[in-house]
Amino acid sequence: MKQGSGARIFRSTPRNLAMLARKLQNGALVGVPTETVYGLAANALDSVACRRIFRVKGRPSTDPLIVHIHNHDQLTSIATTNPVAELLANQYWPGPLTLILPKKPCIPDIVTADLDSVAVRMPSHPIMRRLLRECGLPLAAPSANIFGYVSPTTADHVKTGLGRKIGYILDGGPAQIGLESTIVDARNPSKIRVLRPGAVTPEQLSRTIGALVIEYRPKRAQVSDNQVSPGLLKQHYSPKAQVLLHKDLNHGHVGKLSPKEACLYFSKPKFIRNKQSYWLCQNNNQAEAARNLFGQLRSLDKQGFKVIHAELAPAGPMAAAINDRLRRAAAH
Ligand code: AMP
Ligand code: MG
Repeated sequence: MKQGSGARIFRSTPRNLAMLARKLQNGALVGVPTETVYGLAANALDSVACRRIFRVKGRPSTDPLIVHIHNHDQLTSIATTNPVAELLANQYWPGPLTLILPKKPCIPDIVTADLDSVAVRMPSHPIMRRLLRECGLPLAAPSANIFGYVSPTTADHVKTGLGRKIGYILDGGPAQIGLESTIVDARNPSKIRVLRPGAVTPEQLSRTIGALVIEYRPKRAQVSDNQVSPGLLKQHYSPKAQVLLHKDLNHGHVGKLSPKEACLYFSKPKFIRNKQSYWLCQNNNQAEAARNLFGQLRSLDKQGFKVIHAELAPAGPMAAAINDRLRRAAAH
């Protein structure tokens, strides 16, 4: 157990897990590890605890939370499913897929921002699964960061952002995927669509259900666009530094860099031009790049860079998800 001001970081010993499960049952907030990013968890059936999530994050109450579960009984107790949603759950759970489904009355309105649907996910992180089993409750958990800033992928990131506002963080090591889940609107079985790209791609989803799944792209995804997915803001996941996007930094023209500008390559370049060069992966590895993206943006902020020239991911399985986050980071 590491100690410091505010939040304590707990290792996943059986004793700590039992203690944190009790805290959650009693209405406390806990920073929790998942395979996507770290979450800020509360009992999803407790409206008072869930209201605190919004306060602690500075998240507008119009932005609904994802509810995390650990078995199928919990799914049917909080949402109404359909055969296609069951097929998707069967194939991708536990894992980085969130399903939007009609909600049941036990889920408080604060969790769903007054929508009649709820976002549900069964995470695969073994420590998070043990915590979910131990507390026996569905847990509402958005990413454990101050609203709008880069999502956390380590327990230390959670402590840096929220350490003064929460008491407990469960350490589960660095997040294996590193980007938030794929969100799928599964309310209508004949019109399945992706609302947020993630590690599970539309191509995979199409193969699973035997019908075309496409990504829903609102023209102007803003706070006021609350028709489909209220929280999908154009600007999100932003570091303090200004992010400028480039198709190809090796052949692009970034010109002469000032000491406050950094280059963030997708893959380690053959010729490293200067000390301000950083990269997301060693050798065009998309999963590695996804895992490193948020940590790199945080680290460049910490080093005091004011401008980040970021290279978009080339075509590949994680490209849509990585480029979605980069575009939002750049949308100042
Ligand atoms: P986060 O927990 O920060 O990764 O964000 C969760 C996102 O899920 C929200 O910002 C919404 O865009 C989306 N979401 C959650 N609940 C719903 C819902 N009932 N309908 C549509 N989108 C939702
Ligand atoms: Mg978030």
